[in-house]
This record gives sequence, C-alpha cells and structure tokens, in this order.
Amino acid sequence: MSKVYDVAIIGGGPGGLTSALYASRGKLSTVVIEKGQVGGQAATTEEIENWPGTEHTTGPQLTENMRKHAEKFGTEFVRDDVQGLEADGFIKTIKGRNAEYQAKSVIIATGAEPRVLGIPGEREFRGKGVSYCATCDADFFEELDVVVLGNGDAAIEEAMFLAKFAETVTIIVIHEEGKVDATPVVAEKAFKHDKLKWVWNSTISEIGGDGIVEYVDVKNINTNEVTRMDTHGVFVFVGTVPRTKAFANLINVDDYGYAIVDPQTLESNVDGVFVVGDCRQKHLRQVVTAAGDGATAAVLAEKYIHEEEGFIEDVVDVDKPVIVAFWSPTSEASMAAMPKIEAAVKELGDAVKLVKIDMYRNSRISSRYEIIEVPTVTVFNKGEVVEKLVGLDVTTEALVNKVKELN
Ligand SMILES: Cc1cc2nc3c(=O)[nH]c(=O)nc-3n(C[C@H](O)[C@H](O)[C@H](O)COP(=O)(O)OP(=O)(O)OC[C@H]3O[C@@H](n4cnc5c(N)ncnc54)[C@H](O)[C@@H]3O)c2cc1C
Repeated sequence: MSKVYDVAIIGGGPGGLTSALYASRGKLSTVVIEKGQVGGQAATTEEIENWPGTEHTTGPQLTENMRKHAEKFGTEFVRDDVQGLEADGFIKTIKGRNAEYQAKSVIIATGAEPRVLGIPGEREFRGKGVSYCATCDADFFEELDVVVLGNGDAAIEEAMFLAKFAETVTIIVIHEEGKVDATPVVAEKAFKHDKLKWVWNSTISEIGGDGIVEYVDVKNINTNEVTRMDTHGVFVFVGTVPRTKAFANLINVDDYGYAIVDPQTLESNVDGVFVVGDCRQKHLRQVVTAAGDGATAAVLAEKYIHEEEGFIEDVVDVDKPVIVAFWSPTSEASMAAMPKIEAAVKELGDAVKLVKIDMYRNSRISSRYEIIEVPTVTVFNKGEVVEKLVGLDVTTEALVNKVKELN
C-alpha cells in the first residue's frame, strides 16, 4: 500500500508552498504535487514590491525561498499533473497522471492560468510572438516593438519589465484616456515611464503575420475603427481563470469556476479538503493573500486530522457501545446533564464507554451527526449511531436500557 500522507497539497505556488511550510513545520507528513515548475504564477514576474518586509524581489527568487523553507521542515515534492480526487472517507486519493497519492487531508492550491482572448491569430501565434508571461519571454524581444493588452496591476508591471528589453512597449487599454485598473501607485509609475506608449478606448481584434507575429489589428471600441499596427510581439494580460476543473465534480465552484469555501476555515464542502489562493472565491488575488490562505488551511487541516483520528480511535474503532455526550460550555443545561450521564455509564461498568464532545469546538463531527441542540446523547455501536436522545429528556434509564439491549 502506498504511503498515507497527513497533508497532500496540489499546486506549488505561493499558496501551496506556505501550506507546506506550516504543515511540515507542524510535524505533519506533507507532499506538494506540482505539475510544472514550483513557484506558480508568482514565478513568472520579475517585479514583486508588495511582499511585506521586502522592498523588491523577483517572483522566482521569492518562491524558490518558499520552496527551500518548506523543504527544510521535511516537505516532499513530486512532479505530477493531478487529474482528480476521491474523498469519500478519511483517507483521500489524489489521482495524478503518473501515480496515485493518499492523504488524510488535501489542500487544493492550483491557482489560475491566463485568460485567452479567443481572437483570430492568438492560438496560431502562441509561442511565435504571442505570450502570457513577460518574465519567460521578454528577452526574445530585445530592441523590438511589442504591444501589451490589459491594464490591471499584472499588465502594467509586466509592461514596465518588458520596457527593459524592448524598443517600444505599446499598452492597449479598453478604458478612456488616463484610466487603468491597476492600483494608483503602479499606474503613476507607468505614466511617468518614457518607453511606454498608450492607446486608449481600444482592444485587439486580430493578430497576424507570416509564421511569426508581424502585426495586430487594434479596434477602437467607440468608433469600431480598426487600425493595423506593426509589432513583433503581443503580451496578453487580461485576467485569469481558476484551475479547478479536475475537482469540479466534487467541490462546489461558482459560475466562473472559483471554489466556494468556508471563509473562516477555507474548507470546501468536502470534509478535510481545503482550497487556497487564486483558485478560490476572494477579493484580492496576490502572493500575500495566497500565503495567508496557505497558513490558515494547514493549521485547520491539522485540526481536522486531530479531531477525526481522535473520533475514530475513541468512538468508531471501539469494540463495545460508546455513549457520546454532546455538550457546550455555553449551555448550563448541557453541563448539568453530564453528571447524570456519567452516573448511567458508571452503572453499566465496563460494558460501555463514555466520550464527551464540545459541540462548538468540534462542529464538523456535531454537524455530521446532525446535533442541533445540547445536551444530545448518541449511542454508537460498531461505529454506527443506534440511538439518539435529544435535550433534557436524556434519562439514565433510557441509556442503560439501550446499552443492555446491545450487549
Ligand atoms: C504576471 C504576474 C505578475 C504578478 N505580480 C504580482 C505582484 O507583484 N505581487 C503579488 O502579490 N502578486 C502578483 N501576482 C499574482 C500572484 O502571482 C498570484 O496571486 C499568486 O501566485 C497565487 O498563488 P497560488 O498559489 O494561489 O497559485 P499559482 O501561483 O497560480 O500556483 C498554482 C500552481 O498549481 C499548479 N497546478 C495547477 N493545476 C495543477 C494540477 N492539476 N496538478 C498539479 N499542479 C497543478 C500550477 O502549475 C502552479 O504552479 C502576479 C501574477 C502574474 C500572472
């Protein structure tokens, strides 16, 4: 049988790498399954100026440090492309293209990929002048002319990076003159940049050339006028789409494919499966928020494993009836009921075991057994609920009779 990891992390971008650091530092056996180069989207930018405490770094540098940091605490890394996930019990199976992996909890950190425009020529010239990554391809355009489509932070920062190589960088912006979606600090720097040129109210309607990119057709969205512009390269930065397809049969996603998770715990609709970073619904998709998610999910994964293992050991894998008494420190009545229940258990001697569960601290198990008020007492036999007594009517007599019946 293959190794069962405590935590399997799918995706090695900043979200996955931070989960790996927290999980492995917390002494959980941890694997990161990454289909490409570790580092994710962050590794495709040369300009990171908003990682707290570091005025300037490059994406490859920052994510390589994250990888080493996680590895130092024992994280294993494997190269595989995950195709699906089975999670109908405590041990989950991750199906990679090369192998299957087993883990008690799973953190999906598959991020996002560049949105394509879907215009004529885009697919044909991909890698022949059309690019979605300045870091990867900028040096092919040394002293040549390029256009950038997009006007968010990524587009503008990447345009400035391209300007270090290219002769001219023309940014095509769909908004009216002077308006971009990038944050003001980024926009201000770009407007002062002498190598950047701007075309407003426009988009690209076609990319063309003879074997390699030679021109773009720029369409003014107000007048519909199309102007042909000679260029050697087209860099497209018009947002991203989440990579959740492989899990969409299992976890809840919204209309755009972003995973829907509990905002407090980042747990999906599947117990023990968490989703972090750019592939989940959230307001801000950045390295720092992916890292924050990663830390939260790893800590909650540890809690999940601890609770589940405790429950399996104390309740499920026990060869006599187990009385599970759900209580809460906020319910006086539930606390007052405990001595009564303890007395009933004492009367039964070795025939039964008592486990007390705080309903709020252990909300996952409480909701799995549909505990909606305390006190509630459930009698488990061979891992199954055979009796459920709700509220103040829990009588020692009922408990004693049920356990005697089972014995
Ligand atoms: C050009 C650019 C510039 C940016 N600049 C900045 C910046 O300056 N500051 C900032 O804070 N943020 C910046 N960002 C955003 C930042 O990079 C992302 O928010 C961040 O990388 C998200 O991290 P993540 O871990 O959620 O996902 P990603 O970084 O997308 O990583 C996901 C990883 O999962 C892997 N993966 C996907 N599917 C599978 C699968 N099925 N099996 C195995 N592995 C899989 C991918 O290969 C990838 O490595 C920039 C993004 C881009 C594109």
